[in-house]
Amino acid sequence: MKVSFYGHTRQYHNIKEEIDGNIARVLESGSYVMGPMGSEFEAQASEYFGTKHAIGVGNGTDALWLSLMALGIGEGDEVITNANTFFATVEAIWIAGATAVLVDCDPDTKNIDPASIEAAITDKTKAIMPVHLYGQCADMPAIWDIAEKHGLKVIEDNAQGIDGNGDTFKQGDRSDAVTTSYIIQKNLGCFGDGGMVFTNDDSVNEIIRKLRNHGSPARNVHSAGFNSRLDDIQAGVLSAKMKHITEWTDKRIGWAEVYDKELAGCTSFTRPVKTEGYRHVYHLYVLDVKQDRDGFLAFLQENGIDAKTHYSIACHKQEGFPWGKPAVVAESLVNAEKNADTCLSLPMFPELTQEEVDYVIEKVKEWDAQQG
Ligand SMILES: *Cc1c(COP(=O)(O)O)cnc(C)c1O
Repeated sequence: MKVSFYGHTRQYHNIKEEIDGNIARVLESGSYVMGPMGSEFEAQASEYFGTKHAIGVGNGTDALWLSLMALGIGEGDEVITNANTFFATVEAIWIAGATAVLVDCDPDTKNIDPASIEAAITDKTKAIMPVHLYGQCADMPAIWDIAEKHGLKVIEDNAQGIDGNGDTFKQGDRSDAVTTSYIIQKNLGCFGDGGMVFTNDDSVNEIIRKLRNHGSPARNVHSAGFNSRLDDIQAGVLSAKMKHITEWTDKRIGWAEVYDKELAGCTSFTRPVKTEGYRHVYHLYVLDVKQDRDGFLAFLQENGIDAKTHYSIACHKQEGFPWGKPAVVAESLVNAEKNADTCLSLPMFPELTQEEVDYVIEKVKEWDAQQG
């Protein structure tokens, strides 16, 4: 049996009429970039997310650096973020011209550690950029308090955390911006590149709307800007899919509960640690393997199960930015480095079948039983 890591085409087939209908509407409108479907989706997204503004941009990385730029953060400034994240988070800080200051994660949730953030603050620090890693919110109440105390901006990277919130807070509540990626691997994904900035700040909204479109607030009027727009076909796909995001998240949570229950007796790894009262949206279901992670990964792959690692090289161990400013490592990153050696992600998507999940569980248990 083969179990793939993603269910992109299954998801498409399940709501094909809605997606095809929206794509056809865009094609017939004759307006494909900055057209009516783009605006319609932005209105839908800001209502869904609960922020005053939602601005469609080219991808999740652009959403991050456009937010930094709109907040006036660049040359000479430091931005504190996770060492264990997808590389784009760090890359975006470098693109904005600022220095990424990498700090360690909590050993259990793998999310950025608030105490490490506070310890890394210098007089150059301008912002904190927490990532909702694997689909679980970072400890936002603690991060917001730190930001307030030190007068720092907060930009949440929610590329993996759409639809996830805490019981006592919502993403973006006290942040300057929340950014997301709509690439197909994410929990809400289109059929190309796409991203978005959510904000309650009118100035951030206005600046990003200009920056994304050649610095143009009106026809023939320009200041320096870029080209980073969410096109209308992708907006149409996302508009159809957004209506299903809650139901899809609930399915992910359901599969996570099955994994949790059936794998509870295994001793060669620990299962994802959920913070009490948080809605973990299981972008990824990541095991923390006690020994021979690579052997475990090979065993699953040999048995037709497409498991993966997220991420087997921590950001500060990458080649970095040889032609520009390097990122700075604030402390000894023991948890992030350990995570790179021990993380293993099992297949996790709403369209999994019971049979597939049972097969994954059977093979994981078989591996676990072989470990001493
Ligand atoms: C995917 C991802 C990004 C980048 O998104 P793109 O749309 O590929 O640019 C940024 N941060 C995190 C945490 C991600 O997972």
